[in-house]
Amino acid sequence: MSDDIHEVYAIKYGEHARRRSENYVFGDPHDEMTTLVYYVWVIKGPHGTFMVDTGFDETAARERDRHISHPVDQGLKTIGVDPAKVDHVIATHLHWDHAGNYDMFPNARYHIQDDEMAYATGRCMCHKMLRIPFSESDVHVMVKKVFAFRCEFHDGTDELAPGITIHKIGGHSKGLQCVRVKTRRGYVVLASDCCHYYSHIDEGRVFPITYSVGDTLEGYKKLAKLAASRHHIVPGHDPTVLDLYPAAAPGLENWVVRLDVAPKL
Ligand SMILES: [Zn+2]
Ligand SMILES: [Zn+2]
Repeated sequence: MSDDIHEVYAIKYGEHARRRSENYVFGDPHDEMTTLVYYVWVIKGPHGTFMVDTGFDETAARERDRHISHPVDQGLKTIGVDPAKVDHVIATHLHWDHAGNYDMFPNARYHIQDDEMAYATGRCMCHKMLRIPFSESDVHVMVKKVFAFRCEFHDGTDELAPGITIHKIGGHSKGLQCVRVKTRRGYVVLASDCCHYYSHIDEGRVFPITYSVGDTLEGYKKLAKLAASRHHIVPGHDPTVLDLYPAAAPGLENWVVRLDVAPKL
């Protein structure tokens, strides 16, 4: 394997049934039920294992009435990832569904954008509406990690290893970042919440939890530039990711899929 080619996985750990109208600013004319899937992502390669986000645990799931299908560590086990040996966690942003499971990666350094930490600890959190997707304890724990010398701050674009770069997009959360990974099928972009569903990017629509609608829409253009094609962009919550990509091994269907393998189109 060359020095900059990586394997990439999406691991589903939970889901939430909701009305389609809840997924778009201005609602949706087809107001049927749909599913929002919760994922974490794993990058494996010659430079070790990188987690992209950490998901949430059973306590947080109960607080927000969500369903955990398989806890995050169970999913990691299926692809041979020992959380204690993970060196890097890329925190795309600090929303509650991406920044929990605090103690699962005791030896990892956390990569976060300056703007995200400033946003989650600053004046915007005095507004109830902007605070909704944050959990106070997640933010506290990240501040503690700063004081334990376990955070690495980034401002804009940075390379974490050959073939792995992070890019600030903003929009949905002020310091939201995506991850671009070089794979054997070209550059894959883990969009996280820069794009919740394919429909957001395909139809130019916006998820209702948003710091800036303008930056969200501009972000779609950035994702398209960073990815080798539209089929190299991986949205953060779309259930069809599990249909498009092959299971990482037999028996892992609808749970753990390979993103560095071409999707079934
Ligand atoms: Zn989010
Ligand atoms: Zn999210």
